Amino acid sequence: MGTPLVSSLSLLWSGPLEWLSVGLLIVGVLFFWRGRRGRRSDRLHCVKCLHALAQTSLAEIAPDACCAECGHPLSSASGSSRGATKRTRSSVRTSLPRPLITSIGLFLACAGVGFWLYNGALGGLGRLLLPRYQVKETQTLLGCEVTISKPRWADDLASPIVEIRQRGRVVFASAMTHPTVGSARLQDPLCEEPVSLLWIRSDSGGSLGLSETFTFRVGDATSDDTGYPDFLPYAVLHEGSFAKSDPEQPESDVWIAYELAYKYWLTTGVNSPTIAMRGTPTPSGIVWNSPDESEAPNADALEAIAGRVRALASATEPEMFTSAHCDQALGLVLDAFLELVYTGRARDAWPFLRARYEDGLGTLMTASQRAEVPRSLDALERAILEQMQRSKFIQEILRRNGGSIAPPTDSSSAPISAQ
Ligand SMILES: [Zn+2]
Repeated sequence: MGTPLVSSLSLLWSGPLEWLSVGLLIVGVLFFWRGRRGRRSDRLHCVKCLHALAQTSLAEIAPDACCAECGHPLSSASGSSRGATKRTRSSVRTSLPRPLITSIGLFLACAGVGFWLYNGALGGLGRLLLPRYQVKETQTLLGCEVTISKPRWADDLASPIVEIRQRGRVVFASAMTHPTVGSARLQDPLCEEPVSLLWIRSDSGGSLGLSETFTFRVGDATSDDTGYPDFLPYAVLHEGSFAKSDPEQPESDVWIAYELAYKYWLTTGVNSPTIAMRGTPTPSGIVWNSPDESEAPNADALEAIAGRVRALASATEPEMFTSAHCDQALGLVLDAFLELVYTGRARDAWPFLRARYEDGLGTLMTASQRAEVPRSLDALERAILEQMQRSKFIQEILRRNGGSIAPPTDSSSAPISAQ
């Protein structure tokens, strides 16, 4: 016997709810039986209409007697082979039925059966008879039919299944956590023509949005020699997503990866810097796009941040500062600092950081209750340098900054350079 069958049958009887159902059924049957049997009467009654008969004993009933009320014969023939007639209990009765008790019994019995069906049997039988997965989402992407199936029963914690068919043939099928699918069109530097990709992202969830995206290169709908357009693995990408280009402008889609090295590092929640990297996936890795001017804050934006830091630092008495004040100022300054470094302007970033430290960021950091917040400008600069070294984008960041992201002036801290 197969395991699914056993587990399905076990669902028919899984605990106290089933015992309760059976209890209801038994009590219901007892009530029904009592109700039908009725209460004793000192009179004889017609079995059909319950009319109280004039006769007081069976012996008084003549063989051809009928009920005065409904005409039902009071003697029924039995043992007719011998030609004898015999009065039986089926023609007259010595008790009256109790319809209320009968109804209550019927109701309880039905409730017991219904309760059992609802709680166990239907689910169990359903699991036995219906497929475990049902299709939740279907779409056509690049000529492929994509279906996402999820477990039918809410308590089944199995992962959804993604299945991709190309011309009816299954080209991909896998279980995945929180899957999403889509298509992207991008300019692979190794190819002349833009590449069409079908992507499937598996998201492990959480505030950091950890994900893995599998991409497949899909040929156009014309069939090759084998009768199928090609469907080939292209690249596996981590922690990012495709961003659609403006449909008005026929540009390629880009891959956006968020820098997570600074999330919750010295700041909390919304104050954490969220730096994005834009690039083009290729089978050998991601080729990062050269950042353009618009990706870094301009002079006005930097000045606005300076004003905000000064306002925060002068808003209250220094002894009233909390970690939240520091979080706000440090988040703003770090975000702008990193965006400058990530667009290749480390030389502008350091003076900006130092000026904001003097503006009041230093006072706010000193007042912070968070132990990990550096308490001097020198300590802050060293902490930022060390953290940037931990970034998975560090080689690209160094390349953008001409090989060094170290503070531009004295040599108090060792410069970080590309190998
Ligand atoms: Zn009668």
